[in-house]
Amino acid sequence: MTKGFNFSAGPAALPDWVKKKAHASFLDWESMGHAVFELSHRSPAFEAMLQKAEQNLRQLMYIPDNYKVLFLQGGATQQFSLIPMNLSQPGEQVAYIDTGIWSKKAITEAKRTQNVEVISPLSESLPCDIHLPKHIELKKPCDYLHYTTNETISGVEFKYVPQTDVPLIADMSSNILSRPVDVSKFGVIYAGAQKNIGPPGLVIVIIREDLLECDSAEKSPIFSYSAHAAANSLLNTPPSFSCYMAALAFEWLIQQGGVSAIAETNAHKAALLYQTIDDSSCFDNLVSPNCRSSMNVTFLLRDKQWEKPFLEGAEKQGLIGLKGHRSVGGMRASIYNAMPLEGVKALTNYMKAFESTIA
Ligand SMILES: *Cc1c(COP(=O)(O)O)cnc(C)c1O
Repeated sequence: MTKGFNFSAGPAALPDWVKKKAHASFLDWESMGHAVFELSHRSPAFEAMLQKAEQNLRQLMYIPDNYKVLFLQGGATQQFSLIPMNLSQPGEQVAYIDTGIWSKKAITEAKRTQNVEVISPLSESLPCDIHLPKHIELKKPCDYLHYTTNETISGVEFKYVPQTDVPLIADMSSNILSRPVDVSKFGVIYAGAQKNIGPPGLVIVIIREDLLECDSAEKSPIFSYSAHAAANSLLNTPPSFSCYMAALAFEWLIQQGGVSAIAETNAHKAALLYQTIDDSSCFDNLVSPNCRSSMNVTFLLRDKQWEKPFLEGAEKQGLIGLKGHRSVGGMRASIYNAMPLEGVKALTNYMKAFESTIA
């Protein structure tokens, strides 16, 4: 089998180094004679592994000491509920920026219990653009402002951190660790692992310690950030295999030179793909260059009839996962950290070859 490239949006491709290392560990992890997911999450070896993962993540993102890092289950979708539940009181005011489908899902959950001010910054005409003042003034005092740093489905990404006077909460599921961010600007950052970190089953929450004190309402500990923080993410069984894979992914990223180094490669990959789209008479991207995602590159074929042959031809070359999300159609190439430049070159070469066959 020749090596193909997986452009799936999530669960997504992982680095070969991570997969090989995990493969080798299945029968005998850390000379324990068993796999990591067969051992107690209370065993010293597991706790040491999780601690090391946290240290590496702290190093990669320069996470300040007054932030807790939580390794939880339930995906980013569960955070849509836990954020209002932990950072506000029922009926209180919160604010959300709506840049697409993932923002809307977060807003729907917040609206179950909160008064929600929704800020809709997307331009109505194409190309899609984000129009926000440099500093966001909210109409009423709010407990927090939530936004989605990268809309995985439409391929719209914030290239800067919005300024506001209230705690800023970010769903970074699809661009965490893709380029440097100043964590100290955020109240909470959360991200499902299956886009840019590891396999599904794990969600990482980075929370400023003072915000743990907002968490006063009576609720089950499993829904409480402060309870998870007090238990060092071991309140109940963590997704131990996903945690282990994330630990390997962090090690791999450090070997690559860290976040600023991978950010350069990511910028190069995205530039090559967008240039290929912009230069072609066959493909279109509908997002303004100001906010084109460097992780999820969406594009349409000018004639919808070309979609099927495009996808079939791609698969024949081992280029899989290019079909856009079912809600928007078109194509989407997800080029997270684990996608090498060669993968993007293979895709752009295929796109040019495809274009020449229909021209
Ligand atoms: C994938 C995704 C989610 C949902 O993640 P789950 O782990 O399936 O709950 C939420 N937000 C963004 C930005 C995503 O890309």
